Amino acid sequence: MKEKIWLSSPHLTGEEQKYIKEAFDTNWVAPLGPNVNGLEADICAYSQVKSCSALTSGTSAIHLALILLGVEADDEVLVSSFTFSATINPIRYQKAIPVLIDSEKDTWNMSPELLEQAIQDRIAKGKTPKAIILVHLYGMPSKMDELIGIANKYKIPIIEDAAEAIGASYKGRPMGGFGELGVFSFNGNKIITTSGGGALVSNNPDYCKKATFLATQARDEAPHYQHSQIGYNYRMSNIVAGIGRGQIEVLDDRVAARRKNFEFYKKELGDIPTISFVEEPDGFFSNRWLTTILTDSFETRERIRLVLEKENIESRPLWKPMHLQPVFEEFPAYTDGTSEDLFNRGLCLPSGSNLSLEDLRRVVGIIKEVLRTKY
Ligand SMILES: *Cc1c(COP(=O)(O)O)cnc(C)c1O
Repeated sequence: MKEKIWLSSPHLTGEEQKYIKEAFDTNWVAPLGPNVNGLEADICAYSQVKSCSALTSGTSAIHLALILLGVEADDEVLVSSFTFSATINPIRYQKAIPVLIDSEKDTWNMSPELLEQAIQDRIAKGKTPKAIILVHLYGMPSKMDELIGIANKYKIPIIEDAAEAIGASYKGRPMGGFGELGVFSFNGNKIITTSGGGALVSNNPDYCKKATFLATQARDEAPHYQHSQIGYNYRMSNIVAGIGRGQIEVLDDRVAARRKNFEFYKKELGDIPTISFVEEPDGFFSNRWLTTILTDSFETRERIRLVLEKENIESRPLWKPMHLQPVFEEFPAYTDGTSEDLFNRGLCLPSGSNLSLEDLRRVVGIIKEVLRTKY
C-alpha cells in the first residue's frame, strides 16, 4: 500500500511543547492560567479585535454567540446552508429555527440577494430574524460589503463563522472582526490546531467577558457557589491553549503553504477544460484552507475521488448543503440550486501545509491520468 496522503492533517512545529512544559513546570495544569490569557491576547492581535474568549470548540463558540444575542426558542436565525453541520447545530441547541440561505457562485458563500429575499419574506410572514450566521467556507471571505449593508438595513446582528478562515482577510482586514461576534476553530483538521478548541471574538469586550462567565459554569461573585443563570463547561484549558500559542506563531507560514498548494494544483490542472477553481475576487484574500476543484459532472467527480481512494489518497466531496440534510430539511430554505450543484460536482483535494512536493505530484498525476482515460 502506498503511503497515505491526508486531506488536512495537524502540522505541529515542536515549539508548542515550550508552552506546555511551562504549564507543567508552574503547575498551571488545572483549567485556567497564563497560556489561556496569552492565546487570547495573540488572537486579538492577529485578528485585530478588541476581545477574545478561548473555548473548547468552535461549536461552543457559536452556541455562546447565539446566547449572547438573546436567541431563544422559536426565534429565527438566518444561516449559510453550504457549511458543516456544526454551524447549524447550536441554533437547535437553543430550540431556535435555522433559515437556510444558498450560496452565490463567486465565493460559494452566502448570497446577498437570497439573504435579502429571505429577510423580506420572514418579516412579511410576521417575524424579524434574530441573527445572521455567515460562513467563510474553505477560508474564502464572504461578500462582506453587500452582506453587512443588508444586515445593517434590517438591523440584524452578524455572527461570523470563521472556523475555516483564520488568516484570511477582506480588503486588508482579517476575518472574524466584521460581525458583532466572530468564531474560530482549532480542531485537528483546521489550518492551525490545539487538538480541539475554539474562540469567540468581538470588538465589544462585554460579549467576551460574558462568554467567559457562561463558559465557566456562570458562577456569580460569592465565596460559595452561587448561580443566577444556566452555565456551561466550555472554557479552553491551559494545556490546550499552550498548543495554540505555539501554533499561532506559525499561522502566516501555514497560510502561505496552503496557498502554495492551491497555486500548484492550479498550475498543473488549470488547463484541463473539465476542471475549474474558485478564484479570489479583488480585495479577497483566502487562506486556502482546502483546495477545491469543480468538475464538469458528478460522474467525473466520483471517478477522480474513487481512484484517489484506491491510491490511498484522501479527498472529499464539498459540504453537502444543510437544506438537503435529513436533520434540517424541515426548516425554511431560500435556495437556487447553487450549493447543490457545487456539492454534486466539487471535490476537496489534499491540502495540508505539511504535504511535500512529491505528495502533490502524486495527486495531480493520478487526476491527469483519470481524465486522460475518459477520452
Ligand atoms: C470546524 C467547523 C466548525 C466547528 O468547529 P469545532 O471546533 O470542530 O467545533 C464550525 N463551522 C465550520 C464552518 C467548521 O468548518
